[in-house]
Amino acid sequence: MSGASPITVVGGGLAGCEAAWQLARRGIRVRLFEMRPGRMTGAHRTDRLAELVCSNSLGSKLPDRASGILLAELHRCASLLAHCAEETAIPAGSALAVDRERFASAVTAAIEREPLIELVREEVTEAPPRPAIIASGPLTSPALAASLAELTGAAHLYFYDAIAPVVEGETVDRSIAFAASRYGRDAGGEGDYLNCPFTNEEYDRFIEALRTAERIPLRDFEQAIDQGVCAGEGPMFEGCLPIEVLARRSREAPAFGPLRPVGLRDPRTGRRPHAVLQLRREDAAGERWNLVGCQTNLRESEQERVFRLVPGLAHARFVRYGHMHRNTYMCAPRLLDRSLQLRAAPGVWIAGQLCGVEGYLGNIATGLVTAIAAASALAGREPPVWPEDTMIGSLVRVLVSARPETFQPVKANLGLLPPLETRIGRTDRGRLLAARALSALETFLPHIR
Ligand SMILES: Cc1cc2nc3c(=O)[nH]c(=O)nc-3n(C[C@H](O)[C@H](O)[C@H](O)COP(=O)(O)OP(=O)(O)OC[C@H]3O[C@@H](n4cnc5c(N)ncnc54)[C@H](O)[C@@H]3O)c2cc1C
Repeated sequence: MSGASPITVVGGGLAGCEAAWQLARRGIRVRLFEMRPGRMTGAHRTDRLAELVCSNSLGSKLPDRASGILLAELHRCASLLAHCAEETAIPAGSALAVDRERFASAVTAAIEREPLIELVREEVTEAPPRPAIIASGPLTSPALAASLAELTGAAHLYFYDAIAPVVEGETVDRSIAFAASRYGRDAGGEGDYLNCPFTNEEYDRFIEALRTAERIPLRDFEQAIDQGVCAGEGPMFEGCLPIEVLARRSREAPAFGPLRPVGLRDPRTGRRPHAVLQLRREDAAGERWNLVGCQTNLRESEQERVFRLVPGLAHARFVRYGHMHRNTYMCAPRLLDRSLQLRAAPGVWIAGQLCGVEGYLGNIATGLVTAIAAASALAGREPPVWPEDTMIGSLVRVLVSARPETFQPVKANLGLLPPLETRIGRTDRGRLLAARALSALETFLPHIR
C-alpha cells in the first residue's frame, strides 16, 4: 500500500492531523497540506499543527459524561491527538485541559516524525484531487471556501455562527413572562418556554433600540452578512440572522419572524400579544434561559440595555452574551453520507468543524471516521458503519440525519445515544451508556484495524 499514490489531507488542525495519522497507521501515504505560517487565519497565532485557538479544555474526562465517553472511545482507537492531550495535560479538576503549546508541539513532532506523512506548508485553493479528506476548519481560507461552495452549492455552506444571549432564570420576572408552548404543544405539560409578551408600544421601543444600538465593528465577512450574502458566495443562512439586522430590514420583520406571537395567549389579558420573545431552557433545572432567535452582534453593554427593554427582562442577569464569529461549515444532512463523504463528489471526505461537528474531541473523532472510510475505499471495501451505541457512531448518525432546514453544528452529548431499554435514574444513566458504548466499540474494533 505504501507505494500507491498518496491521499491528500487538507488542514493540519485537530481533524486533519488525526486523519493523516490514522491513514499512516494503516500503511497509507499522506500529503498533509497546512497553509500556516505562509497564510495565517484570523485566530491561529503559530505555525504549529493542531493549535487550539481558544479554550484549552477538551471537556470533562469523567467516564460517564459525553466527552468522557468520546475520549475513551478515541483512546481505544489509538487516537494520536487523545494521546498527546493526556501527555500534555495540566491540572483542571475533572476536565482534560492541556498546555496548548506543548500539545501542539507534541502533535507537530509526531506528524513530522511519521515517514508516511509528507507535510506540505501550502494553501490549497481548490478542491484537491481525489481521494482527499478536507479538514480545513471553521476558518477555511476564502479561496478554498469558494471552491467548496461551487462543489456543494453555496446555499449549503454556512459562513458564520451567531449566538443568542442567555439569562439567569431567577432574574426573569414571572409576573410578566408566562410559561407556555405555541398552541399548547408542551413536552412536559407545564409550558416548555417562558414567553415575554410585547404590547405595540413596548415592541416599538425595543425595535428602535435594536436598530440604533452600537454594534461590534464589522469585519469583511460581517459586512457580507449585512448585505445578506456570505462572502459573496450566495445567500446567507436566514435562520441565523442577527436580530438587529432583521430589525433594520423592517419594523415588523422580527414580529413575523423569531418574535411571532402565533399560538400564544397572554394569561393576564387572555389575548394574543403584539409579539413574543421566547426563552428556552439551557439546562434541565431551568437556571439558564436562551433568548430564542436573538443572536446578535451588539456590544455587550448594549445587549444588557436593549434586551432589558423586553417585558419580563428588566432585571435580567446575563450569563452569556450573544456574539458572532466566522464559522465555515456544511449542511451535513444534505451533503454527506454516513462515512462523511461528499455525495456529490465520491472520494472526497469532510472532517472537523467543516462537516458541522462542534467540540475539540468531536472534531478529532471525525478525522478518525474519515480516515477509516478512506482507507476502506482504497482497499475496495465498503466503509464500516459505526455502531449507534458508540458516541462516535451516534454523533455521525445525528449529523447526517438532522433536519437540513434547521441544521446547526452538532456536539457530543448523552442525548445523542439511543435510550437505554429500562428507565434508569440520572446518576446511573451515564455510567450504563458508557459501558454499552465501550462494549459496542470492542465488537466493532476488528472491522477498522
Ligand atoms: C475563534 C474561535 C474560537 C473557538 N473556540 C473553541 C473552543 O473554545 N472550544 C471548541 O471546542 N471549539 C472552538 N472553536 C472551534 C474550533 O475551531 C474547533 O473545535 C477545532 O479547532 C476544529 O478543528 P478542525 O480540525 O476542524 O479545524 P482547525 O483546528 O481550525 O484546523 C484547520 C486547519 O486548516 C488550515 N487551513 C485552512 N484553510 C486551508 C487551506 N485552504 N489550505 C491549507 N490549510 C488550510 C488552518 O490553518 C488550520 O490549521 C473555535 C473556533 C474559532 C474560530
